[in-house]
Amino acid sequence: MNTETLKIKKNKHNLNGFTIDDIGDDHLLTGLETPMKKDAFKLSDSDKKERITFLFEEIMDVLGLDLTDDSLKGTPQRVAKMYVDEIFAGLNPANKPKIALFDNKYKYNQMLVEKNITFYSNCEHHFVPIIGKAHVAYISSGKVIGLSKLNRIVQYYAKRPQVQERLTNQIANELKTILNTNDVAVIIDAKHLCVSSRGIKDDTSSTVTTFYGGEFNSADKIRELQHYINTSG
Ligand SMILES: [Zn+2]
Repeated sequence: MNTETLKIKKNKHNLNGFTIDDIGDDHLLTGLETPMKKDAFKLSDSDKKERITFLFEEIMDVLGLDLTDDSLKGTPQRVAKMYVDEIFAGLNPANKPKIALFDNKYKYNQMLVEKNITFYSNCEHHFVPIIGKAHVAYISSGKVIGLSKLNRIVQYYAKRPQVQERLTNQIANELKTILNTNDVAVIIDAKHLCVSSRGIKDDTSSTVTTFYGGEFNSADKIRELQHYINTSG
């Protein structure tokens, strides 16, 4: 048995007495932070790409694919590059967007809503896409943020293996910290390809998650926010 197989055997996670088969497609959420190993960044990005290339080649080989075929031979390397540089780049804090704040010179004191932010993420239980829209809002506590930065924060946290509940809370938490206020709201409406393209194969359902902090906990504010989101811009 090689070391990789051993590792998988040993990793019979503590799942509260359930097996992975018992849990099936029901998604578990274990915490706000993305579960990372302590030595997550011991390997450089190029070492990670080299290792993933090797391992993905193994997966394709086990599936019986002919890696000498011209169409397939570059795939392991492409997947490795895509994982590290693109779709999972948000695992690395070095890729976190640098955010500059400005004084709220206009004394704008109503909610600001950035809506319909399209994002692509991946379900951490199946490693297939989550495609959705995020709407984020805040009320300034004295500072304002560049609008594109709201978009960048959403994209950064989306570029991780995710569960939608955690993605929602991670975005909200980041906004609260950066803007120094609890008055933030995040609404996410997303399709999970692990639900629509396989498993239960429900093509029409989508999942909505919300975070309402501070001022956004009032029924009036939620109604106002919903109104802006539902009005076409
Ligand atoms: Zn899934």
